[in-house]
Amino acid sequence: MRIRKVCVIGSGTMGGGIAQVCARAGYETTMVDMKQEYVDRGMKMISTSLARFVEKGKMKQEEMDAAMGRLRTSIDVRDASRDSDFAIEAVFERADVKRPIFSELDGSCPEHAILASNTSGIPISLLASATGRPDKVIGTHFMNPVPLMKGVEIVRSLLTSDETLDVSVEFVQSLGKETVVVKDAPGFVTNRIVTLVMNEAARLLEEDLASVEDIDKIEKLSHNWPMGPFELADLVGIDVVVDLLEGIYQQTGWERYKPAPLLKRMVEIGYTGRKAGKGFYQLFAKEK
Ligand code: NAD
Repeated sequence: MRIRKVCVIGSGTMGGGIAQVCARAGYETTMVDMKQEYVDRGMKMISTSLARFVEKGKMKQEEMDAAMGRLRTSIDVRDASRDSDFAIEAVFERADVKRPIFSELDGSCPEHAILASNTSGIPISLLASATGRPDKVIGTHFMNPVPLMKGVEIVRSLLTSDETLDVSVEFVQSLGKETVVVKDAPGFVTNRIVTLVMNEAARLLEEDLASVEDIDKIEKLSHNWPMGPFELADLVGIDVVVDLLEGIYQQTGWERYKPAPLLKRMVEIGYTGRKAGKGFYQLFAKEK
C-alpha cells in the first residue's frame, strides 16, 4: 500500500511535531484540532521549528517552503480524514477522548487506511475496539520533541495484522525515524523504564539521600545520560509523569508504579515543571 495522504488529529506538542515530520518527508498532511486557534497555534509552532532548522543550515529555505506547502489544517475530523491513507491520533491522553475519534475515523477514512495512536500507554486494543477494523489499528509512539528524537515505538495489539505492521514500520522509517516493535502492554517499553527512574529519584529525595542537583549530576556522570531524572521530569511535566505512573499502576497493580507522594504533592501545588516555570529545581535547588 502506498501512503500519500496523512491526517494528524491533535495539533499540540506531539500532533504538531508529527505533522511537521510527515510534511517534511513529502506527505500531503492535514492537521486537525477542535478550534481554528489551536490549529493556527500548531502551524506557528511548525513554521518556527522549521525556520530553526533553516537558520542552523540543516535545511534549505526551499525545503521548508515545500513542507509548509504540503500542510493543511481543519477543524473537522470527518472531512479532513476522508481521503487519508494513514491517520495518526495525538489528542489528550484519555481513552474517553480517543475512542470516539477512532470511531469517527473508522467511519470517514477509506477502507484501506491505517489508524494509528500516539498514546503513551492506553491499550491499543481498547482503541481498536472502537472501530470495525481492529486489524488496521496500531500504536506509533513518537517521542518529544518529535522533529529531533529518532526513536519511535511501534505498538502491535493482539489484533494488528502483519500488513498493518509492515506498512506502519515502513511509513515511520520514511519519516527518518528508527523503529522498535513492542507488544501492547501498559507503558510499552519506554515508559515502563523511564517512569520508574523518575519515581525512584523522587523517593530518594523524600528520603533525603542527596540533593536534586547531586542526584542529577551523579546519574549524568555515571551513566552518560544527557539529563538527570529531575531535569527530565521537569521537561516532561510532573503531572504527565504522575498520570503515566498511575496508568501503569491501575492496569497492573504493581506497587513500584505507585507515584511517590512527593510527585503528587508537587502537582497539587502547581509545580508541574518547565511548562509552569516551576518544578524540582525551583522547589529544592540549593541556590534557591
Ligand atoms: P497536547 O495537550 O499538547 O495536545 C493535544 C491536542 O489535542 C490539543 O491541541 C487539543 O486541543 C487536541 N484535542 C483534544 N481533543 C480533541 C478532539 N476531540 N479532536 C481534535 N483535537 C483534539 O498533548 P500532547 O503532549 O501533544 O500529547 C498528545 C498525545 O501524545 C497523548 O496521547 C500523549 O500521551 C502522547 N505523548 C506525549 C508526549 C509528550 O512528551 N508530550 C510524548 C509521547 C507521547
